[in-house]
Order: sequence, then C-alpha cells, then structure tokens
Amino acid sequence: MLKVLKFGGSSLASGETFEKVKNIIEADSSRRIVIVSAPGKRHSKDMKVTDLLYLCQAHIKYNANFDHLFEEIKGRYKAIYDYCGLKQDLDKEFEEIYPKLNKKTSVDYIVSRGEYLNAKLMAEYLGYEFVDSTEWLYFNFNGKVDFEKSYEALSAIIETKSRVVIPGFYGITPDGAVKTFSRGGSDITGAIAAAAVNADMYENWTDVSGIMTVDPRLVENPRPIENVTFAELRELSYMGAEVLHEETVFPVRQKNIPLYIKNTNDMNARGTLIMESFDEEEDKKSHFITGISGKKNYSIITIAKNRMNDEIGYVRRALEVFERFQVPIEHIPSSIDSFSVVVASTHLENRMHEIISALNTALAPDSINIANEISLIAIVGRKLQANVGIAGKIFTALGDNDINIRMIEQGADEINIIIGVDDINFKKTIKVLYDLAN
Ligand code: ASP
Repeated sequence: MLKVLKFGGSSLASGETFEKVKNIIEADSSRRIVIVSAPGKRHSKDMKVTDLLYLCQAHIKYNANFDHLFEEIKGRYKAIYDYCGLKQDLDKEFEEIYPKLNKKTSVDYIVSRGEYLNAKLMAEYLGYEFVDSTEWLYFNFNGKVDFEKSYEALSAIIETKSRVVIPGFYGITPDGAVKTFSRGGSDITGAIAAAAVNADMYENWTDVSGIMTVDPRLVENPRPIENVTFAELRELSYMGAEVLHEETVFPVRQKNIPLYIKNTNDMNARGTLIMESFDEEEDKKSHFITGISGKKNYSIITIAKNRMNDEIGYVRRALEVFERFQVPIEHIPSSIDSFSVVVASTHLENRMHEIISALNTALAPDSINIANEISLIAIVGRKLQANVGIAGKIFTALGDNDINIRMIEQGADEINIIIGVDDINFKKTIKVLYDLAN
C-alpha cells in the first residue's frame, strides 16, 4: 500500500500544526510520499508566507526595501524550526535565498521558496528524504506539465528513496527555470505525484472535514459529503463550490486513484472520498442529493417568435450573435416558439443594448425579454438518474416555501438538476434544498 499525502498551508502554519501532521503520517506506515504547501495563516489576521513572498517581489519591482518582510518570513520558519527541535542549517538556506531576491530573479522562483523551505523542515522532522520538485516535475516549453517525463522521473526516485517530502506548487522548465502553477497549485503537485507512483490513494489534508454538502456560509454546519464521483465534483465546482484546484483531479482521475479530502485538525474524521464510481453497497449509504452549489447574478434572455420551430437555423443565428460578442452561454432552455439563453450577467455589462440590437437584426423576433438578477443552483447527485420522484420532491419543497422557479434544466447524464431563481431567494432556496437532502 502506498499513499501520497498533500498538506495545505493551514496544516503547516506553525510548529503545533507540524506536530499534528507528524502524528497523521506516523499513524499509517503507507503514508510515504508527502507534498507540502508553504506556511498558511495561523489565525484570521495572519498572512500566508506565499503572500509575503509576492509582497517581497512587489517591493523589489518598485525598488522598495523589503528587509522587514524577509525578517517576517524568516521568523515564521524559525518558529517551526524551534518548536520541532530541528538541527539543519536554516540560516544557510536564508543566506542563499536573500541575495537572489532581486530584479533578475523570476517571480516564480521567489514565491516557490515558501514550499521549498517548508519541505526541508518537514523532511527533517519526519526523518524522510527531501526531494526537490525541480528534480522531477517537468514543464514543457508551452507551460504545460510533461506528464510522461515527470512520472518517469519520480518513479525512478522512489525506487531508491522510499519515504520523501516534496515541495508543492512548482516544477522546472526545459531551460532549467523554476515555474509555479497558479495559486493553490500544491494540490496539483500532489495529484501528479500520486499518478506518477501509481499510489493506492491520494489524501489531500486541509482544515475542514471534507467537502460540505453546501457552502457553510449559506447553511450553518452543513454535513460533509461522504462519497462523491469525479463527475459530480466537476458539476459542484463549476457552480461555485470551492474544493480543489481545478486541474487537480485530472491525473488521479485518469489513473483511477481514490482521492480523500481529510481534516488535519480531526484526523479520525472520515472526510470525503472522491472516485470515478462507487460499488452498489457503498452507494446505498449515500443520500440522494450529493451536494448543492450555486451562483448569483445571471441573466436570462428569452427570444420568442411564432412558428420558430419551422425556421431552420434560427437558434444557430442567435448563438452566432453571442459568439460574436464573446459571451459564454451557460444554458439554452427552450419551448416551441421561444428559447432562452442563460449567461452570467458580468458578460453583458455595458453591451446589453448592442447585443439586443444584433439579435433583432439577425432574428427579427416577435419579442426579446431579459430577466436579470437570477441565481443558478445545481442539485447534484448520481442517484438522480435511477430514482423516480426526486424532481417532484424538489419542486414541491420549493413551491411550499413560495420560491418561484424561473428556469429548470436537467443535464443529459442526469446527475444534476439546475434551477434558476431570483437572486433574493438564493440563500433560502439553498437552505430548503439542503433540508430536503438530509
Ligand atoms: N502556497 C501556494 C499558494 O498559497 C500554493 C499552495 O498553497 O497550494 O497559493
């Protein structure tokens, strides 16, 4: 059994959290490959080390003195170092990094030092070997990860080093420069490492007990999701659930590696398991709604024309207008003599009149109506497919609570139902659906 673990910044913010991480790793001998982020916030007013490094870089750019920031960064690592009783020459690391903080050094190199130093400390603390991501995580010239080369390199390293700590967030370009992912990218490093070594499991440790059924800002203390498929997760995150870095799931999904989201502060909580599919027994335990997510501020543009269904190419001409204005379309609910185009309102800002006039020219419709301030809410669940009557329950519950449904859509794969309601009903709708799901 081989498990790859990634710890987020809040799990690595202080000596105390380092200790929790050590306990977690020592509780299971298959936890052999550990990916770390840079130290995160210790409390709500604190700063992440990565943010401090970006700030240093901004000071360098504008010729401002950044010594106080570098001192603060040093202090963060020193505190961990002292708490954990480490022995390595940390000052030497700072002495190597400091002179590189200048205009000639890339931003990516500067901000990557957050993960680099944390991995060095964690490796010593665990008694694991440190493997720099520049030794195995290769990017192509086009900025994309060279998966084959990276997989080969890490699996070769693991043959000789069986327990390692690896810094997340960055890798190396073909010309030898450090390159980072976008923010939050250590999740991706972990997923690539898991895929490279064909891990039995990828555990992503964070500060919550898994992915919640709904956003905790909308419903108090929501239940965590136990099992979710990759397809469901994609639907939930597209509609606003903030879970993992977008690119994370791809390498583990491709290799069918189970992905767990776990809580560093509650190591025995089950967390959320993400897989391609679940066997029947496991599935029986799941609720019929896996999760609910949603976003506000959409517009529904409804175009009506009598006998529209006889006019070939009518919808295409409308879509061409949106294409010309580079407006991405979310949904196209339709009836016989009308159809609607649902788009995020931000894409219409200051252009509404131009778009409507282009639609009038292209389509000569009987009417065009626009409804703004619409929220889209996705009710996601793989069980929606097989169970009769769920949609009925959903609409009854919303009706009983006086919530007017402005739009309904069901995806072809039947794992989601999307409803549109007025923005003022957003929170209430989510709450009603959450109560129904439990
Ligand atoms: N430290 C980086 C960030 O704050 C990467 C990560 O934490 O995943 O974005």
